[in-house]
Amino acid sequence: EVMNSLMDFVIVGGGPTGVELAGALTELKKNVFTKDYKELDMREMDIHLVEASPRLLNGMSEQASQKALDFLNEMGVKVHLNTAVKSYDGYEVNLSSGEKLISRTLIWAAGIKGNPISGLKPEVVTRGNRLLVDEFNRVKGYDNIFAIGDVALMEGDERFPKGHPQMAPPAQQQGRLVAKNIRNLMKGSAPRPFRYFDKGSMATVGRNKAVVDMGRIRFQGFFAWYVWMFVHLMAIVGWKNRVFTFFSWMWSYLTYDRSNRLIIGRNEEKFSPEETKPH
Ligand SMILES: Cc1cc2nc3c(=O)[nH]c(=O)nc-3n(C[C@H](O)[C@H](O)[C@H](O)COP(=O)(O)OP(=O)(O)OC[C@H]3O[C@@H](n4cnc5c(N)ncnc54)[C@H](O)[C@@H]3O)c2cc1C
Repeated sequence: EVMNSLMDFVIVGGGPTGVELAGALTELKKNVFTKDYKELDMREMDIHLVEASPRLLNGMSEQASQKALDFLNEMGVKVHLNTAVKSYDGYEVNLSSGEKLISRTLIWAAGIKGNPISGLKPEVVTRGNRLLVDEFNRVKGYDNIFAIGDVALMEGDERFPKGHPQMAPPAQQQGRLVAKNIRNLMKGSAPRPFRYFDKGSMATVGRNKAVVDMGRIRFQGFFAWYVWMFVHLMAIVGWKNRVFTFFSWMWSYLTYDRSNRLIIGRNEEKFSPEETKPH
């Protein structure tokens, strides 16, 4: 139990962050930890992914969710769907299913919260501290306060009844439009309402394994993984950085290795069961 508590990981939240992290940890376990920690039996290391809803990648198509689940199952990740984390004391993770997991490492990937500022009317601060805005990103009830990106909750887009996804593209698009609108308002012209241009969503689960939804076009696996890499490579600022990143990825792909290392002592510290439990 002591060894398992140190080796097992529990990731909470089966969105893109949780899914990608579970996949990346599994690849580290398989390709890196086995070489670096020869004294450990890596078969003992379990990676749990806990998701409260019935499926992974809720913002994506059913097809992408199912394929991501298949990929993770194939890779040996223990996926717990329809299961919420009830409590964690630094050692025991209690799940809504009644199951108990033991781990010193729980990674929260179940959403973010805004950082509220004082002085705003309480009714504009909604779930997750997102601020209710109109179609011009003006905080409801104010003419001269704007909120954009993750912190803005815009109602009225029938495609996104719970607000736009908390991702980079809505933040970038709103940023550009609000800048133009403020200029328009200063010139006395009418502002333009925001309409989100959804370029699609993608998530990478592991080597040669990704899922892509682009409108009605959906694909998974090897080709999706290449598309994911290309899109993310092009999103990096500057050609020099893109080229360096490309070679770094190629190196990792061909060598199955990571260049970063955390240097720790081997077998020098022995933990007693009491020492590993939280105090
Ligand atoms: C782990 C992870 C992975 C992600 N991966 C992707 C991805 O692959 N693709 C994608 O599209 N999106 C991804 N996202 C989401 C994406 O990062 C966000 O949607 C995007 O950064 C939102 O931009 P923003 O400007 O609204 O907020 P942020 O980027 O969060 O910027 C807000 C900034 O405001 C600062 N701040 C907060 N309060 C104050 C204050 N009171 N005073 C001054 N400064 C303050 C914060 O420190 C922060 O720097 C990911 C998010 C996470 C957490």
